[in-house]
Amino acid sequence: MIDETLTMIPGPTPVHPRILKALARPTVSHVAPVFVEDFKKALADFQALCQSSTAQPFIVAGGGTLSMEMGLVNTVAPGEKVLVVSHGYFGDRFGDLAKSFGIGCEVLRSEWGRAVAPEEVAKALAAGQYAAVTITHVDTSTGTVSPVEEYLKLLKGRPELVILDGVCATGGVDERFDEWSLDVLLTAPQKAIGAPPGVALTLFSEKALARRRSMATVPAYYSDVMRWLPIMQDPGKYYSTPCVNEIVALAEALRMVHEEGLPARFARHGRIALSVRAGLAALGLKLFTAPDCRGDTLSVILLPEGVADLAFRKEMAARGVVVAGGLGPIAGKAFRLGHMGNIGAGEVVKALGAVEGSLKALGVEVQPGAAVAAAASLLP
Ligand code: PMP
Repeated sequence: MIDETLTMIPGPTPVHPRILKALARPTVSHVAPVFVEDFKKALADFQALCQSSTAQPFIVAGGGTLSMEMGLVNTVAPGEKVLVVSHGYFGDRFGDLAKSFGIGCEVLRSEWGRAVAPEEVAKALAAGQYAAVTITHVDTSTGTVSPVEEYLKLLKGRPELVILDGVCATGGVDERFDEWSLDVLLTAPQKAIGAPPGVALTLFSEKALARRRSMATVPAYYSDVMRWLPIMQDPGKYYSTPCVNEIVALAEALRMVHEEGLPARFARHGRIALSVRAGLAALGLKLFTAPDCRGDTLSVILLPEGVADLAFRKEMAARGVVVAGGLGPIAGKAFRLGHMGNIGAGEVVKALGAVEGSLKALGVEVQPGAAVAAAASLLP
C-alpha cells in the first residue's frame, strides 16, 4: 500500500512531488556545473524570497538551529549582550545559544500565547546596552506571531543589529528584509518553504557582515560566515561538502515559491489559516494563542476537557493525519496543526475531517461535516 499519511505538524511539512523528484536526482559532484547552477539559483531565489536585493545569502548543510547559531555568533562577540524577545520555546533557544558562547543575554518573555508589548522592548532598549536583538517571527511552540514592524520602529536608527528567526514564517508570511532594515534573517526549508529539512538558510546585511569582519575571530568553525562567504559568492568552490540533493530540492521549492508569487503565496497562507480556524471553531475547539497574535502558519488548539493528548493523536494517525503535541506548559493540553508550505484545500479538508472523526471516536459530540462546511467557503 502507498503510505498516504499527511504530515500536518508545524514542520517538516508535506513535500510536493515536484520537489521530491528533484531530491531524487542522482547525486552529483558538489562542483559539477549542473549543481553549481542550481546552487546559484537557490541563493538568488532565497534572497528574493526575503525581499532583498543586496543582502548576502548563505545556504549551509544543517538546520534551523544552525541558522540561529550562525546569526548570533557572527554578530555578537562573547562578553557582549543580546536582547532576546521570546514568545516561547524557540525564542528561549536564543538565550541558550547565547549562554553556550559566553554571550550575555536578557530575555524578555511574554506569557505563553501572547506577544511581548512593544513598550517592554522600548524599556529594555533604554535600560541596557545590546549588540543585537533577536525576534522570533512566529514561535512554533505558541503559534504567536511577533508584531515585528512595531518592534522595528523602535529599533530604527539604533545601533543594535536585528536578528529575525523566520523558521516558522519564511515563505508563508511577508518578510521584507531591505524595507525593514533587518540585519540577519535566518530560516530553514522544512516549513513554509515546503522543502525537506537539511539546510540552514541565513541572509546577512552589509552591516551584519561588517560586524563579523570587525571581530578577529568568532567561537565557531563551521558556523563562521567568513569561511562560507567565498563559496556563496562562487558555489564552485569548496569549504565543506554541501548537501547536494537537499540543495537541488530547495532550488525546486524556491522555483515553486516564485512561480506562485509572493503576494499570492502569503494571501494563500492567510486564507488557509482562516478556513482551518473556522473549521475548528465549528467543532467547538478553542485556540490557545491570543486572537491578536495568531500566526498564519500554524494553529495551537486546546484539547477539549476529557480528551487525552496521546489518545487524540493516535486517533488522528489512524485517520492518516499526523499532528504535533503541545510543548512546555501546554504539553498534554493542546495539539499543534501546521498549515503552511505547499498545501491547499485537499489537505485542509482531510485534516479537519480527521479532527472531527477523532473527537467523535473519543466521545465528544460533534456535528458531522460541520468543520469542513465551515472551512469550505474560505478555502483558496
Ligand atoms: N526556530 C523556530 C521558530 C522553529 O520552529 C524551529 C524548529 N521547529 C527552530 C528554530 C529550529 O529549527 P531546527 O529544528 O531545524 O533546528
